[in-house]
Amino acid sequence: MLFRTVPKSRPNFTARYSDLLFLLAVMAGFFWISRYNYVLFHSLVEAASAAVTFSAFAFAWNTRSFEHGYLLLVGLACGFLGVIGVLHALAFKGMGVFPGYGPDLPTQLWIASRYLTALTLLVAPYFLHRSLPIVPAFLTLFGITSALVASIFLGYFPRCFIEGEGLTTFKIVSEYVICGLLLLAMALMLRNRSHFDRATRHLLCAYFGFSIACGLAFTSYLGVYDFSNLVGHLLQLLSSYFFYKAIVEKGFRQPVEFLFRELKDAVQARDEFISIASHELKTPLTPLRLQLQNFQRLIQSGRADELTPEKIDRTVNLSIKQIDRMSYLVENLMDSTRLSTGKFDLNCEKVALFALLREITERHKPEQIASRCELSLLAPSEEIHLQADVIRLEQVVTNLFINALKYAPGTKIEIGALTKPDGRKLIWIHDAGPGIPAHAQDRIFLRYERLNHSDRSGGLGLGLYISREIVEAHGGSLKLESSPGKGSRFEILLP
Ligand code: ADP
Repeated sequence: MLFRTVPKSRPNFTARYSDLLFLLAVMAGFFWISRYNYVLFHSLVEAASAAVTFSAFAFAWNTRSFEHGYLLLVGLACGFLGVIGVLHALAFKGMGVFPGYGPDLPTQLWIASRYLTALTLLVAPYFLHRSLPIVPAFLTLFGITSALVASIFLGYFPRCFIEGEGLTTFKIVSEYVICGLLLLAMALMLRNRSHFDRATRHLLCAYFGFSIACGLAFTSYLGVYDFSNLVGHLLQLLSSYFFYKAIVEKGFRQPVEFLFRELKDAVQARDEFISIASHELKTPLTPLRLQLQNFQRLIQSGRADELTPEKIDRTVNLSIKQIDRMSYLVENLMDSTRLSTGKFDLNCEKVALFALLREITERHKPEQIASRCELSLLAPSEEIHLQADVIRLEQVVTNLFINALKYAPGTKIEIGALTKPDGRKLIWIHDAGPGIPAHAQDRIFLRYERLNHSDRSGGLGLGLYISREIVEAHGGSLKLESSPGKGSRFEILLP
């Protein structure tokens, strides 16, 4: 889990307030410098921000193998933001690095970097429970940054500041739009609060707060040395400080705790998994052995004639069921390994969807009867055809159907399929069981994750993980809508 650290003792009063005192002293120092030399003040603020962004980049880049999508995306973007930040600092009025460009240039670069920041933070939560495809992400960021910088230097970017007149409408509206995007990004981060520890969450909220305030302060200056420009830069300094505390310090100063916890979690998950897997694999073996021993006893004691064809048939059927159960578990284990090693191929062909759903539900009629579930299979007006790997698709629907039977016994289950107006195919499996609490809805799609680790309901916590991977390999999505007491609805959307 991202940014989770092992529990620590609370920082004492001195440690907590020394940070605040240090911050106030730095702010006062910066304010004092601004009174004497505004260009120096601006350069120092930008240098501090660049130091933070480049450190975040260095940390994320060097820990990219840990596959923390959120951190990695934010860190990668920081590298590009740092470059734009340096250009912005060099372009500031009075620096004289880009002759002929005037004060519009730094303002345009600032707005470009703010858009990139806000969009990155909006997209990043998507990668909280996914790994980030590094090369495409890097190339996308590189492409966006190059396009922004090129359009600014070549004169295609909208004007942001006109000497003597002040800020343009584009710049003011952009600041408000960016503040809105940052607010949304903060809401998304809070919605995924379970991925962040409390301290990180608070630091990130402070970052978002100061960053938004900084944008608002930058909506009203007439000259680049104005008071609101000064306030904006002081707020920028504060937001950089909180970003540093949340991302860089957490990353660099607490990696041991951070990694230690990850390792501890991994070892614990592995131990739990081995215990569940051995139990699950052993469960079908016991009745299988008993049935065979019974046969052996009858044969050895000369009572083979007691083995009537009906008795043999019943026992063989039961044995096949146990073997099927074991093969299912072993298949799941093998699939999970195939997925993690990337050896997972699809053989797509034309599939008649409704016929497949009917076949699956008929095959599992005995389990349905045993779980006392009432099933309604909603037939579309005409058969739906799609290109898919039929075995894999069957596996996904079976997993979800069996889960509904297993976790929502005695309830009504609805299975249906339809073609959406945009041509995509939707399959849903809806049960009226206990439902899944919001905080666990992302987690149960992860490998070996089960809602209740201690339950012995016969699962390895792999079904949903494998199902989502299969659906995503088809270019589709597997989503869950559920709330405790209201049942669960799994939706497979396929192109
Ligand atoms: P398992 O093999 O343990 O069933 P899955 O990956 O299929 O693994 O499911 C993960 C967990 O999600 C289950 O252990 C169960 O707690 C929960 N779950 C899955 N489907 C449902 C459902 N329809 N209703 C309630 N809980 C469910």
